[in-house]
Amino acid sequence: MSVIQKPRGTRDFLPEDMAKRREIEEILRGTAQFFGYSEISTPAFENAELFIIKSGQEIVDQLYSFKDKSDRELALRPELTAPTMRLYLAEMKSAPQPVKVYYFGNAFRYERPQKGRFREFWQFGLELIGSDSVEAEAEVITVAVKALMYAGLKNLELRIGHLGILKGIFKEAGLPETKQSTLMKLLDKGETDDLYIELDSVDEFSAEQRDLVKNIINTKLKIADLDSYKAEFTGIKESASAWEKLIETTKILNYFQVPQDSIIIDLNIARGLEYYDGIVFEIDVPELGAEKQVCGGGAYSLLELFGGKPAPTIGFAIGFDRLIMALEEQGRPFSSMKPSVFVIPVGKEALSKGIEIASDLRATGIATDLELKGRGPSKSLKFAANLGVKFAVIIGESELAENNVTVKNMESGDQEKVKIQELIEHFKKFKA
Ligand code: ATP
Ligand code: MG
Repeated sequence: MSVIQKPRGTRDFLPEDMAKRREIEEILRGTAQFFGYSEISTPAFENAELFIIKSGQEIVDQLYSFKDKSDRELALRPELTAPTMRLYLAEMKSAPQPVKVYYFGNAFRYERPQKGRFREFWQFGLELIGSDSVEAEAEVITVAVKALMYAGLKNLELRIGHLGILKGIFKEAGLPETKQSTLMKLLDKGETDDLYIELDSVDEFSAEQRDLVKNIINTKLKIADLDSYKAEFTGIKESASAWEKLIETTKILNYFQVPQDSIIIDLNIARGLEYYDGIVFEIDVPELGAEKQVCGGGAYSLLELFGGKPAPTIGFAIGFDRLIMALEEQGRPFSSMKPSVFVIPVGKEALSKGIEIASDLRATGIATDLELKGRGPSKSLKFAANLGVKFAVIIGESELAENNVTVKNMESGDQEKVKIQELIEHFKKFKA
């Protein structure tokens, strides 16, 4: 019989992978907590309609949806923002605002597997519900940037835009929803040729409006160039106020100590999820190549679609797997999660004492492993060397009689006898 394979686009994680992932996960969690966000968790599957209502055609096409044994339409979550809004409306809507929550969980999309694109992947994200102040927007962007920086990511590029600018023009021109979403989708996918063909075929646009849209989607500015840039859409109220807010939020990022030279004002950002409607931002790591986007976020409206009272909402999701890939690519050193000490009891007599020593070491906070196959010292030492522990503690009959152990420094190879009652002090000295 052939060995059963795992599904396409999914991955197993070996201990060395998990050690790296946990290290980074803890940093991301810590950052969110540090800014006053609290963790929530939602189910891996939901009623399918939660994702069908407004996520956009792309997400629906990628949805792992199925009927359960009672004919309910369910779906594995493709993202965690909609579930968070569902949870908020069910349990948290009367909490003092703003409500600030974060999550870390897996998401599922039926995508063509390739580098940086999987069918099961992990997202770390957060949502701020109940404020649309510029400082709230800037804080959310800041947490994303800082979390990535604290994780050790270098060379990140933050692009910020505002969907209100384009939407203002679309509205002024009287573009139907379907045409708007076609344009936004082409924009998000970076399919420039098709986008221009589509733009030219929209007959609702005046020549002026069409030029304006083309101009906007080509606008990329550094903070330093902002003052000399003249926004041309001042005649369109919605676009002009979106622009103003974008600039205010971007400027305030300075006080949040976000490196200003990493920021690009990019009016080309559309976002794949259709429920975004205000400020939007993306963070790229150029080293990753095609799938270089490690974070996407912005302001969106979902609450009213789920039958709730509208409230301003803004959030982001970091693609955790791409972040790990970027950190590996950039050569970030990861710390070892290996035990420091390996205890080798030699012979039946020494076994109980060996277990006791290992237990005492663990109780004082020293990570300790133990020989579990009853092997002799030489085989056992080889095994310990392979594990990468710093010290081996050998306790045999002669040691037992003298109430001491042999401590071997696995790096230098040095051996010394240490009294059992002095062992803990001995390792503390070495910061084992
Ligand atoms: P892309 O344009 O790369 O498909 P997206 O716009 O679909 O990304 P979002 O829905 O904003 O992505 O999800 C947030 C982050 O999750 C992305 O920036 C990316 O890092 C990560 N991500 C999205 N889809 C996948 C996937 N299939 N595999 C791995 N990571 C993913
Ligand atoms: Mg996608």
